[in-house]
Amino acid sequence: MSTPVRFDRGHTDDLMTFLTASPSPYHAVANAAERLEKAGFRQLSESDAWDSGTGGRFVLRGGALIAWYVPEGAAAHTPFRIIGAHTDSPNLRVKPVPDTGSQGWRQVAVEIYGGTLLNTWLDRDLGLAGRLSLRDGTDRLVNIDRPLLRVPQLAVHLDRSVNTDGLKLDKQRHMQPIWGLGEAREGDLIAFLEEEEGLPQGSVAGWDLMVHSIEPPAYLGRDRELLAGPRMDNLLSVHAGVAALAAVSASSDKLDHIPVLAAFDHEENGSQSDTGADGPLLGNVLERSVFSRGGAYEDKARAFAGTICLSSDTGHAVHPNYAERHDPSHHPRANGGPILKVNVNQRYATDGSGRAVFAAACERAGVPWQTFVSNNSMPCGTTIGPITAARHGIQTVDIGVAILSMHSARELCGSDDPFLLANALLSFLEG
Ligand code: ZN
Repeated sequence: MSTPVRFDRGHTDDLMTFLTASPSPYHAVANAAERLEKAGFRQLSESDAWDSGTGGRFVLRGGALIAWYVPEGAAAHTPFRIIGAHTDSPNLRVKPVPDTGSQGWRQVAVEIYGGTLLNTWLDRDLGLAGRLSLRDGTDRLVNIDRPLLRVPQLAVHLDRSVNTDGLKLDKQRHMQPIWGLGEAREGDLIAFLEEEEGLPQGSVAGWDLMVHSIEPPAYLGRDRELLAGPRMDNLLSVHAGVAALAAVSASSDKLDHIPVLAAFDHEENGSQSDTGADGPLLGNVLERSVFSRGGAYEDKARAFAGTICLSSDTGHAVHPNYAERHDPSHHPRANGGPILKVNVNQRYATDGSGRAVFAAACERAGVPWQTFVSNNSMPCGTTIGPITAARHGIQTVDIGVAILSMHSARELCGSDDPFLLANALLSFLEG
């Protein structure tokens, strides 16, 4: 089956909008949901009974989203084709008692979330975003998208060996942003947010807040062939997954499988949460989808046995200044197309048959692709792929896009790679 929908540079332009509008996982899933609703998808509540109808559906839970499209004629045992991704990025997150300070500087107490490249957060103009939980039981998104905070680096005059011995940052002592002058007063930060949001003082009962670089994404390079921006790990994959799922739902009603997008939170710290890949969310949604079409355990087992997941996340492009850190025969390049990620010790879930599935999807889409495998002397990262494979017994293939500066506050990729990935994902969902 083929469709006329093909993504091009306009997809990368749209990614830039998505990145800017998604400074937190909660914003990312809200923006994904808005796009899916425009494509005809309907939100389901986990606490309601689900109907057996065809069409697009999605479930939101915190910073996670599961969306799926039931085509005409789907049976209870129809298998799924899943795109997996994650919505969270390493950053600095506000502590329960945020108001602190020293020497006449007002500061915000933060924890370090995930494997943050700490130095990249220094001397940047930072905004503050996330979710406020109100006393009336509702949540609301907040985004202060102006220069509000900064983690100031120590001047070279006071740290003479920094350029020879390297920068040493203590996560507790050196990473607390300033946000003005004056004495710290308990309740100040939340009172400020209430004021910004036009909320009555004292109405915020809880918060999940994080800082973000306010510098918007930008094309970079002689021919603008590169894209610099925040949170490409892994909103790049979430955005491509949303686009591919919306496109396949619009163009294909004769699918013999159910396309799914699973965008999880908490990948950057191991995925163990009610919204992470190591929680029951995906399994529950897929099971309920089977059962709502009249299926029983046997149908679920049959559906899962035929299911494939492409787990998409960023990987390392070969670095011009550190090429020796890569395997000598595997040098993923920017704009070389999506990467297949392999690790025989199951840090990635890809095997030979997964490679064949991915290669076929790329071939049908006319998309070039590359392979990543780590240098044996370097530890290999991991992602939600192996967790999805192990938790649900689903064949999983780890893929993604090669970037530089992974986990930096501002990452770098090729400006063609986002749409090459989206075309590969669409081809996979078409089957
Ligand atoms: Zn990632």
